Amino acid sequence: MRIGFGYDAHRLAAGRKCILCGVEIPSPLGPHGHSDADAPVHALIDAMLGALALGDIGTLFPDSDSRYEMADSIELLKKVYCLVNENGYILSNADITIILQSPHLGQYIMQMRQKLAQALDTEIGAISVKATTEEKMGFTGDGTGIACTAVAALTVRCVP
Ligand code: MG
Repeated sequence: MRIGFGYDAHRLAAGRKCILCGVEIPSPLGPHGHSDADAPVHALIDAMLGALALGDIGTLFPDSDSRYEMADSIELLKKVYCLVNENGYILSNADITIILQSPHLGQYIMQMRQKLAQALDTEIGAISVKATTEEKMGFTGDGTGIACTAVAALTVRCVP
């Protein structure tokens, strides 16, 4: 079993789509970035890469590379999971925390879990997505940004 941790934060900007775990959330502000800036997915990618010591999202998909401009992060996640599989591992479970003052994400959690489970070809019970605020403290609290953490546990793939 291998365990990895990932963290990502993005500034929030007006007029940007708010896509979190591949789900578009109605919001006047969205994460700013080179790709679709899906911060929880970026954290999950880094957790999986970290578990196998394979580097990080920035080295695999540099923001200087125009191929990743407005990239769908779910597609990047699928690519990283292929890499995990090629290295002989599968996802055991993942646990993501999204730290955002608003909007409230409760009603979208199930959809996010489904989206990630589908992308990773696993069961919804293997994917946890949680949302919290920092009670108006700091950059998430004042609405400047979003932060996300992720932990991923990988197990050796059974060879038939
Ligand atoms: Mg990011």
